[in-house]
Amino acid sequence: MKQLEELVRPNIWGLAPYSSARNEYSGQAAHVFLDANENPYNSPFNRYPDPLQLELKAQVSKVKGVPAENIFLGNGSDEAIDLAYRIFCNPSQDNVVAIEPTYGMYKVCADINNVEYRPVLLDADYQISAGKLLSACDEKTKLIWICSPNNPTANNICREEIVGVLQDFQGIVVVDEAYSDFSKQQTFRSELGKYINLIVLNTMSKAWGSAAIRLGMAFASRDIIYLFNKVKYPYNVNLLTQNQAIEALRDPYQVQDWVKTILNERTRLVCAFRDLACVVKVYPTDANFFLAKMTDAQGIYNYLVEKGIVVRNRNKITLCGNCLRITVGTKSENSELLAALRTF
Ligand SMILES: *Cc1c(COP(=O)(O)O)cnc(C)c1O
Repeated sequence: MKQLEELVRPNIWGLAPYSSARNEYSGQAAHVFLDANENPYNSPFNRYPDPLQLELKAQVSKVKGVPAENIFLGNGSDEAIDLAYRIFCNPSQDNVVAIEPTYGMYKVCADINNVEYRPVLLDADYQISAGKLLSACDEKTKLIWICSPNNPTANNICREEIVGVLQDFQGIVVVDEAYSDFSKQQTFRSELGKYINLIVLNTMSKAWGSAAIRLGMAFASRDIIYLFNKVKYPYNVNLLTQNQAIEALRDPYQVQDWVKTILNERTRLVCAFRDLACVVKVYPTDANFFLAKMTDAQGIYNYLVEKGIVVRNRNKITLCGNCLRITVGTKSENSELLAALRTF
């Protein structure tokens, strides 16, 4: 990798971050807090939350096997995605490379930040070679986005190819593992010591059943985490979210249980789909959803909506013509979907 300073926007490298009252006071235990213009009443909501979420990070560290100093927590992974652009990409100068199709937020955040977005098509089985991604890069490429398991295709991207990109790319590689709890592929969180240009994203929104609280995670080198902390809003994760996440993380066995149930239901759904007259093909999946090529995606989508069942229509997405993306639900929800499709 290039020197980190060469990859970071000069204004961010030189930025003096906002220093909050809670940042500046970190001495011994105090009991009178007259430093932050808070209302002394309405405890505990009157106090600003911990800007660095240390108690929550200790918990995340235990569950994810990553030291707290290598963790950034944000308002969903979407915050980490946006921050990556704001830290590394000079607007109207730099570019990023991403697999295509993939999660839509990488492109939206590129557009918001006025950064050129270079999509590189997956092949027919939704895989890609390191060489193909790298040949889309030039001197101005700061980030490569790889989502694995990928959304909306649901498959893991081949691990050796991701490693190839990590080894040969001079900039930052973001591996979005939002769905890794559903996959047997080894997580890249364990490779942080080996690749200083790696950022791994995780979220509480999928397997952890906590999309409503908005908590996303980025795992990276200390130097990259320092930059994320410098640029984020001072109190980006609110107290309710911090407390609820600590609760949820205390029970990883619950999540394992949910994952097992969801994977069993996925097998049942995929098998049933293969026998439906309106299904052309079901693509391989390593996530809690799958992509299915239909005889008439738009017509089937409309038909399901009329019955009160909403799936994701990916018909207009590159390489996903006539495809619906189906999230695995509860047993009864899945059965309702199958019953509806049998009478299409
Ligand atoms: C759902 C999803 C996320 C989660 O985003 P949050 O902001 O954490 O809810 C991130 N990446 C991908 C690829 C996703 O599909």
